[in-house]
Amino acid sequence: MTFFPSLYLPIRLSLGAGVLLSGLFMAGCADAGVHESRTPMAPPVGHHNNVDEGFADWLTGFRVDALKAGITGKTFDRAMAGVTPDLDVVSSDQNQPEFVKPVWVYINGALSDKRVARGKLLLVENKSLLERLEKAYGVDRHTVVAIWGLESNFGDFMGSQRVVRSLATLAYEGRRKEYGRSQLIAALKIIQAGDVGPEGLLGSWAGAMGQTQFIPTTYLAHAVDFDGDGKRNIWTSRADTLGSTAHYLEVSGWERGANWGYEVTTPTGFDYAQADMAVKKSVDGWQKLGVKRVDGKPFAAKDATAAGAIFLPAGHKGPAFLVLNNFKTILSYNASTSYALAVSLLADRFRGAGEIKGAWPLDERPLTRAEREELQDLLNDKGYELGKPDGIIGFNTRKAIRAYQVKSKLPADGYATSSLLDHLRR
Ligand code: CA
Repeated sequence: MTFFPSLYLPIRLSLGAGVLLSGLFMAGCADAGVHESRTPMAPPVGHHNNVDEGFADWLTGFRVDALKAGITGKTFDRAMAGVTPDLDVVSSDQNQPEFVKPVWVYINGALSDKRVARGKLLLVENKSLLERLEKAYGVDRHTVVAIWGLESNFGDFMGSQRVVRSLATLAYEGRRKEYGRSQLIAALKIIQAGDVGPEGLLGSWAGAMGQTQFIPTTYLAHAVDFDGDGKRNIWTSRADTLGSTAHYLEVSGWERGANWGYEVTTPTGFDYAQADMAVKKSVDGWQKLGVKRVDGKPFAAKDATAAGAIFLPAGHKGPAFLVLNNFKTILSYNASTSYALAVSLLADRFRGAGEIKGAWPLDERPLTRAEREELQDLLNDKGYELGKPDGIIGFNTRKAIRAYQVKSKLPADGYATSSLLDHLRR
């Protein structure tokens, strides 16, 4: 799911892998099972009471706003009874990883033999439910199960924190007050509707809930009661969990029966500046430029006119993918391209595909945060105007890297490497 660092805010937040944070759902990590360890911050002596008093004042003010938003006093008082700020949430929010995991470490972890085998078993076990979901929402069962596997390791890691407490903490102090506030109002609406009580509303420190890791606003808009018991339950109902994921994909633009994309090879002399999610051509168009499927098979005829982009997750030395509309739809679940690729490849494994053919550039060392900031500094010095370095290689940094690579006659893949940093230092 979605993460926090300024990069990825939004729709979900994912925290995990340190690859990316994204956001419809904030929160826990997509990396199934890889949860950051948290060191609780020890409050200075004498600080605690002040925090409590400040929080009590804040809560009084927030209650007025919640009631204006349609929450009853009864719901509010029941949900917020005894709630105190959670210092673990504050430290998790402030924690910025020093190292970003190389994408291949994340992908290999996501596609572990264990996860592939378990997903295949669950596909068999839930065959009739998945058939009904495909009929109802037009999505693909393998993708739904792959998302379930990455969001919560098929329900193993949903987060066990009380969501109202986590969100109240974020709303009270920290960098995401507005996020915390709007999500807390949504959480109170969920409680008021009776789907779940305050004690049952569990999730990650950032508020991503249940097996689908929906943040409260996403839950309110898109969770479904697929087992028909009158409640939307993404914590313990498998039908509601998978149904909610399927429904979310449908409303995000899933194209029934279409492929997510292909692993491809690019021809010698290919202009890597074209390998950008914003550069779209038809599959036919890419083929005319010399892009081929890595296995030598033809592209499916139904995809000939579909719009696609070339995605190089590890730069021009690594594997290449031609990604289509449904890949973009997966990005609406979590804005990280690494996540969307992991889901797509995991779904392929469930269908019986083998490992990808392209080799990862294993000799490339990930840049440390200090090095990423230095790289941004050096690009600033050369006139690319990135603003204050934040160590996050996002859209603008990639764009500046490409421009610098074009100017320096380097393969313009927009990828930050230690050799690029060396080049900038010279
Ligand atoms: Ca239900």
